[in-house]
Amino acid sequence: MSRFWSSVVHSLTPYVPGEQPKRDGIIKLNTNENPYEPSPRVLAAIASATERLRLYPNPRAASLCETIAAYYRVAPEEVFVGNGSDEILAHTFQALLKHDAPLLFPDITYSFYPVWCRLYGVRYEEVPLDAALRVRIADFRRPCSAVLLPNPNAPTGIGLSREAIETLVAEHPHQLVVIDEAYVDFGAESAVPLVAHHDNLLIVQTLSKSRALAGLRVGFAIGQRPLIEALERVKSSFNSYPLDCLAIAGAVAAINDDAWFQETRERIIANREWLVRAFFELGFEVLPSVANFVFARHRNHGGARLAAELRERGVLVRRFEKPRIEDFLRITVGTEEQCRSLIAVAGRLI
Ligand code: PMP
Repeated sequence: MSRFWSSVVHSLTPYVPGEQPKRDGIIKLNTNENPYEPSPRVLAAIASATERLRLYPNPRAASLCETIAAYYRVAPEEVFVGNGSDEILAHTFQALLKHDAPLLFPDITYSFYPVWCRLYGVRYEEVPLDAALRVRIADFRRPCSAVLLPNPNAPTGIGLSREAIETLVAEHPHQLVVIDEAYVDFGAESAVPLVAHHDNLLIVQTLSKSRALAGLRVGFAIGQRPLIEALERVKSSFNSYPLDCLAIAGAVAAINDDAWFQETRERIIANREWLVRAFFELGFEVLPSVANFVFARHRNHGGARLAAELRERGVLVRRFEKPRIEDFLRITVGTEEQCRSLIAVAGRLI
């Protein structure tokens, strides 16, 4: 605390991301990173972009907006890019989610959402997941200014169909619906094709997970022009150049290497299915995940103890100290070898 702090700083409870360990040899399954390398074309593109470091980058990252627009079959003006999807979500809270009526999001979800609410003074209400930890669209039928949902949800990994999202959007014609599709490429259905027909839908995605670029910090949003314009107005009142020229070049190359993207995400999906079966055989209950992580608890062993014992044996997983989920572990799907080591270590603990 300091007398120099602005008053808002006193009321902030910052988000705490999963730890990035310093020692080597750790099996790191705690922050949902991709276990495979990004496309070699990304590295080549970044290397050649170093020739342009003297210059400011394009402030809208126009080449990246065009690449994303072509890939997702939308107009470039319907794309907004940012320094990770976290930055885009933060701008969304400020630009589009601050109204008199509350914003709704699930009670068990990405724990950054309430942090942005406090930063920007956004009123919110949490809608409880059902007994099976699923999002029930019908439970969002209540007075609100907007709805924010990750699909698949985090940390459960459970997905909603595009049809369910369309129902939600149709039931809230006067409210904005924001779908955070950070993990959508691992088996859920994207709602991007709905954007053409709905002016109240904004989709946010990231290159951190399915394109293995968490370190490059690139995310994007797709929505109709007035929504994108709101984000651009906030962005251009905040930072003219949120994406540096290396990030722009690398992200363009990543989107363009579709073969690499398809192959690595299919491997992760296959590893997930193997992991789910192996955990099941060890007596774990595993929620039906369509993400690059699984959310699992053991019938006879508490989550805190399991997480600590895995950690002692060099395996990092994530756990949330929250009612209903404190015994669950959120475990990122790693390489084939990491999955086998994890199951071998877990098998010795139970
Ligand atoms: N949304 C969800 C649901 C997430 O889990 C994450 C990753 N922590 C993000 C958004 C943000 O990812 P990034 O800023 O790396 O794009």
